[in-house]
Amino acid sequence: MSTSPDSGSPPPPPPQRPTRPATALRQRLAELRGPAVAPQPLDARALAALAANPGCERRALLDGAGVNKAVLAQALGSPSGFGQSQFAFMRGNAFEARVKADGGAELMRLLSERMGTAEPAGVEVPDLSAAGPEGRAARTALALREATAAGRWALFDHPMLALEVAGSPAYLEPDAVVVDPAGHWTVIEIKSFPMIDASADAAKVGAAARQSAVYVLALQRIAEHLSGASVDDRILLVCPKDFSNLPTAAAVDVRKQLSVTRRQLARLTRIEDIAAALPEGTTFDPGLGPAELAAAVESVEAAYAPECLAACEMAFHCRDRARRAGAVESLGRSVRGELGGLTTVGAVLAAARGEEGDPSDPTVAALRRAAALRAEALGGAAC
Ligand code: SF4
Repeated sequence: MSTSPDSGSPPPPPPQRPTRPATALRQRLAELRGPAVAPQPLDARALAALAANPGCERRALLDGAGVNKAVLAQALGSPSGFGQSQFAFMRGNAFEARVKADGGAELMRLLSERMGTAEPAGVEVPDLSAAGPEGRAARTALALREATAAGRWALFDHPMLALEVAGSPAYLEPDAVVVDPAGHWTVIEIKSFPMIDASADAAKVGAAARQSAVYVLALQRIAEHLSGASVDDRILLVCPKDFSNLPTAAAVDVRKQLSVTRRQLARLTRIEDIAAALPEGTTFDPGLGPAELAAAVESVEAAYAPECLAACEMAFHCRDRARRAGAVESLGRSVRGELGGLTTVGAVLAAARGEEGDPSDPTVAALRRAAALRAEALGGAAC
């Protein structure tokens, strides 16, 4: 069943009118991406990836300026294999269609089972079609208001949400949102990775939670304007059960991801400071040569970690630079944390050989002990 705008219904909440960045900042951001280059819109995956690496100024600036990182990486000669394969995309779509079949009956059963809600006798599926993302976002906001005011169950299939990011709207499309009769909104995230014996790959669940937190944040901004509306800070993650294509689900608490995302977005609004610290004339225009582009990219601090390989188009470039600099970050965050003040592979090896470092430093002592054990095992070979 579909809903339609009702002339007797209360007026829709005020559409999100993003505060446009100051003209000078907009001009600076346009210079950074190249005067003839259209800005790359931010989506939920990009915003979630930002939250996954909050220390990276490079990513914050490139995303904030609307630079197309895939194009930039290609121009730098380090194209990334980042992204979903066509096969995985089609498999994901087929699974999602199965989960939402029969007006979402199975989905509502899973919601009731995992989130402890009553199982509805019927659920409306509002028509959210409208022209363009702005129109769809306004239509979604109106339908959310109608369903909440009417106190009925509603399943929003691919609603469109707008979230202001660094003064511009980012349009986000969750897989589904359910509204219950008490005005409670729940984000549904449907993924095609399996849940085996009720647990799934922690890294994938973490990525799904960060992405969903972005949706929850966008919904909270809408709910602020509606009396009686509230947004659950748990989401329902739906995945294939074991090795079948039958759906199963789990409630995932995204409060932590929500607070990181909020902090990251607040930080994004300060990209002005990062841009101001760049050398005069810096630009990431993909029309430049690789050497000039590399110099521009290197002028912004990065925080490379192996996790970038699954989340950022710049990963191969940043990994290459980190390796060339001998940075221990390229070995992983946990290794970096263990090594304390030793920031390069060269310094670690020198400390292990006894050439550098304070022997009373527990890290240096542990490295020397490990080097001695290694030498003993290899019959005297030094590291
Ligand atoms: S790949 Fe580079 S730009 Fe992207 S998040 Fe990692 S360090 Fe930052």
